[in-house]
Amino acid sequence: MLRTASRPINESILITGGAGFIGSHLCDRLVAEGLEVVCVDNFFTGTRRNIEHLLDSRNFELIRHDVTLPLYVEVDSIYNLACPASPIHYQHDPVQTTKTSVHGAINMLGLAKRLKARILQASTSEVYGDPTEHPQTEAYWGNVNPIGVRSCYDEGKRCAETLFFDYWRQHRLQIKVARIFNTYGPRMHPHDGRVVSNFIVQALLGKDITIYGDGSQTRSFCYVDDLVEGLIRLAATPDEVTGPINLGNPEEIPILKLATTIVELCNSRSAIARRERPSDDPYRRRPDVSRAEAILSWKPTTGLADGLTKTIAYFDGLLSDDTVRRTLQGNRD
Ligand code: NAD
Ligand code: UDP
Ligand code: UDP
Repeated sequence: MLRTASRPINESILITGGAGFIGSHLCDRLVAEGLEVVCVDNFFTGTRRNIEHLLDSRNFELIRHDVTLPLYVEVDSIYNLACPASPIHYQHDPVQTTKTSVHGAINMLGLAKRLKARILQASTSEVYGDPTEHPQTEAYWGNVNPIGVRSCYDEGKRCAETLFFDYWRQHRLQIKVARIFNTYGPRMHPHDGRVVSNFIVQALLGKDITIYGDGSQTRSFCYVDDLVEGLIRLAATPDEVTGPINLGNPEEIPILKLATTIVELCNSRSAIARRERPSDDPYRRRPDVSRAEAILSWKPTTGLADGLTKTIAYFDGLLSDDTVRRTLQGNRD
């Protein structure tokens, strides 16, 4: 049975990265629950479109702000999601990525400290790097290259976890650390570059499906609604629960199989095209979610085919806009 921490009436919640893919779904859920939501985003990878429908809500506020700079607002709790999550985007300006993770964490932890607010960190399965243990439990310390092209993200997120646990030890902050595994769903950016959105857009446009390497590498994909439910449950745990807790769907699939599944679900005639595998691309990834099951009474309920069908419907809608379609059609891959 899940015990929840007591919540103040009209609890106000800061969501950094709230205009992004996961953040906007979290905003939706919390606004619908009647909580006061303050969404902070610098729109690096997020868009106003993701939260436009919330702008008229009395309990929703949008602030354009970069979390690498100090932020003074009054809230009861914080979800820290601000950080580009797609390899293409986080490698575009790697120094800014590390700053966002590290300076962003320091600023949000400083804010939480001043306000005595609960704070949840959106960490990642990337802290396990290219794992030598499978599936990954929270006890595994990881296998991360500190100087590679993915390091700005992986090491930035690892350092953010360190900061969270040091603020907890040193200042007794109420922290929660979620290690999120690959998540997909509506509102992923069509230019995002991550595998699910790439394959769906390619399949819908009849373009080649770009497989990096031979496609035998695996991932385990979690539908966004399941993930958001896990984050909300984690945030509501009693103070002694800090995490880290893996949140993801243990249904593991090779990337080539993901490609053929998406082509089939889209009724597409796209062909498979091979591309070079990026360096440090993890070979296998699957969460052990027994800790989340035990502590949060949580496990994902959306199967891959169902989640992909909903996501395909979203992108289909997006591509019905001629301008969007022409822009995506023009992209090389
Ligand atoms: P996203 O890129 O769609 O969202 C990130 C949001 O953060 C965007 O709206 C972006 O504009 C904003 N942002 C980036 N830098 C910022 C800054 N300096 N100041 C303010 N806002 C900033 O990605 P997402 O998939 O929604 O990921 C959200 C969080 O979850 C990230 O922290 C990511 O690391 C984590 N995560 C996601 C996944 C996944 O599969 N989607 C997996 C593991 C962890
Ligand atoms: N900070 C913030 N908002 C606040 C309080 C702090 O953005 O309401 C930032 C501020 O930039 C500070 C950082 O959080 O440098 C860390 O705060 P902390 O109190 O831990 O340390 P300080 O550097 O202030 O001694
Ligand atoms: N990938 C692929 N084709 C693409 C995009 C990604 O084959 O168009 C592969 C990528 O090499 C990786 C997996 O799909 O092995 C997941 O990539 P993504 O960027 O979505 O997430 P991450 O590597 O961070 O898990």
